Amino acid sequence: MQADHPSAHGEAPPSATPFQSLKAFRSAGRGFWHDVADTDWNDWRWQMKHRITHADQLLRLMPTLTPEEFAGAKLANTKLALGITPYFFNLVDPADEHCPIRQQVIPRIEETHTAAWEMSDPCGEDSHSPVAGLVHRYPDRVLFLVTDRCASYCRYCTRSRLVSNATGYDFHPEFDKQIAYIAAHPEIRDVLLSGGDPLLLSDEKLENLLSRLRAIPHVEFLRIGTRIPIFLPQRITPELCAMLKKFHPLFVSVHTNHPRELTTEVRDALARLADAGIPLGNQSVLLKHVNDDADVMKALMQKLLMCRVKPYYIYQCDLIAGSAHLRASVAKGLAIMEKLRGHTTGYAVPTYVIDAPGGGGKVPINPEYVLCRNAGRVLIRNFEGKIFEYPETADGQPCGQPPKEIYEPELV
Ligand code: SF4
Repeated sequence: MQADHPSAHGEAPPSATPFQSLKAFRSAGRGFWHDVADTDWNDWRWQMKHRITHADQLLRLMPTLTPEEFAGAKLANTKLALGITPYFFNLVDPADEHCPIRQQVIPRIEETHTAAWEMSDPCGEDSHSPVAGLVHRYPDRVLFLVTDRCASYCRYCTRSRLVSNATGYDFHPEFDKQIAYIAAHPEIRDVLLSGGDPLLLSDEKLENLLSRLRAIPHVEFLRIGTRIPIFLPQRITPELCAMLKKFHPLFVSVHTNHPRELTTEVRDALARLADAGIPLGNQSVLLKHVNDDADVMKALMQKLLMCRVKPYYIYQCDLIAGSAHLRASVAKGLAIMEKLRGHTTGYAVPTYVIDAPGGGGKVPINPEYVLCRNAGRVLIRNFEGKIFEYPETADGQPCGQPPKEIYEPELV
């Protein structure tokens, strides 16, 4: 039986442009699992129990696997992480080798090829960990790794050394030590829970952890980084939202890369989080043949706003070992930013960053809008390529001169 691909049950009207079609919300459908009871399908634990985790399972569901994909899938759980929820699998187009969803979750043998500049820990997290599972790289905030499990595994994951334990990293966070470190460092005002995916913890465990963090007086702000609303929207239950709501200010950062990931199921799950008063942001990774296209990225950003999610970052793909086949160029990223800024709502424009290799932190990368600057003036260009002069002024002195357009486009 063919998978129930979204195009089969929610076609955009015939007059819709490809852009409008990208922006349409469709259900992921039930596909191979059409005879599963609703109560099971909508139960996140059922989804987790029935994940696709082995090559033979994958081949059975998708006989169109390419030789490269099959070779990659055969390394599942020995060298590479493999796990796909049935819900998310329904978004894969088995007939399209270049399907942007497929590229993100189906392993390929190229992941075993490591380019000279690639690393197993490209952001230098291990070298910035004062205790296991706690990364203290920036002055006032920490990354608190909660688990090594995710609902599905992304092929370009920065923490692929750690997630799923496929390569024997043997990650064992020790919450007592992580919390004690935070309690002993009054400069830490912001704690980001991540992993693996913190929302895979039971409500009880997560509540216990959040309560302990909230009890530390200098922790002002809690964040959860998660891909669960995208891979497993069934997990975003009213009970979970009611529990999270007790720990405000609590922000949630989700991770989506392609507008097709924003289904009706995901939209509803995000609405439950937003209705619990949780500010939502999104992080995307720029990926070759997935979202290295201005229309795809614009549709994604606009669709996120429709789900009350603020696009936060686009990451240049980290130099993680085995990711060269998915890495788009910085030039592509800059061209996309150029087509977002000014061309759509400012809220829909995230910050494009490179996480500096080896642990240098996030560096914003922007098209050049300041053409030159000296003590007397700043020369800037706008999104249309028009050039303007803005008079520079000494600190605290009124400038008294209106900004002036001086000439038009050919310089850009
Ligand atoms: S959900 Fe996040 S942590 Fe998990 S595999 Fe994907 S990128 Fe990595």
